[in-house]
Amino acid sequence: MPRHFRRSRPAGRLIGFISLAFAAVLVTAGIWWVAASTGAGPAASPATAARTTAAAGPEDPGQGSTSSMPSSAAATNPATGRVDTLDGLVPDYVLPPIEDGMVPVLTKIPTEQNVVFLTLDDGAVKRESDLALLEKNGIHASLFLANTFIAGDPQFFEQFTDAGNLVENHSMSHNLGFIQLGYEAQKAEICGMADYAEQHYGRRPVFFRPPGGPYTQATRQAAAACGMKALVDWEAKANAKGMDYQVGAGLRPGDIVLMHFRPEFAEDLAAFTAAQKAAGLKVVLLEDYLATR
Ligand SMILES: [Zn+2]
Repeated sequence: MPRHFRRSRPAGRLIGFISLAFAAVLVTAGIWWVAASTGAGPAASPATAARTTAAAGPEDPGQGSTSSMPSSAAATNPATGRVDTLDGLVPDYVLPPIEDGMVPVLTKIPTEQNVVFLTLDDGAVKRESDLALLEKNGIHASLFLANTFIAGDPQFFEQFTDAGNLVENHSMSHNLGFIQLGYEAQKAEICGMADYAEQHYGRRPVFFRPPGGPYTQATRQAAAACGMKALVDWEAKANAKGMDYQVGAGLRPGDIVLMHFRPEFAEDLAAFTAAQKAAGLKVVLLEDYLATR
């Protein structure tokens, strides 16, 4: 598979690429196996191991250049016939099933494919310009929204879902003492937000991110009881106008990146896109990659 994904390429190369991709599908179908659960994720909020700050502003280079990293704008997936962000990529990882009544935990997707996933949390700051920046960069993201931040204006995020972003579950109250809550209280937080998002955005979330990141077995059980398919944390952040890495000093294939709807959204997104392009990664929707859209 080519390291770079390009929107435009010579027809001969395109045909060759399609042939290669088709062959890869056949091979993959023969050897596909379900990767082991990644349930060994952190039980506490991830710590920061490295930080880089991008000097880039909101203006993003690469527009109009055929050699630039392409957008992740939705395209029809020849494997499924559906429009998604994979652009023909066949994932090499399958989401583990619920075991012992607990959803699996993901902090990173174990893949060597050159993909990265952006997640946007909370929903406290609401600006149409943030959606415009995502669109300009061709990025679709998973939005982990909490009821307490959006209940005053849930319609605001309809334009995000209309544009192909998906709303996921970040609890009702965003209680940072979440793991001190009992099982029933955690379940009420998770099921309540799942119901709310389904009611307002027409799709029931499938991923839960606990406020602040920490979780317990009770959290994983409550998430499963509410119909969630995974608990999604992170190992990299776009934060305070720079990038924070728990491992290494740059984005890796399969990284799940945490970012927030904050006043510094433009600078955070610029830091993310700079890191993403430096690492040669394509931004795809986690829900597309895990077939949970
Ligand atoms: Zn949050």
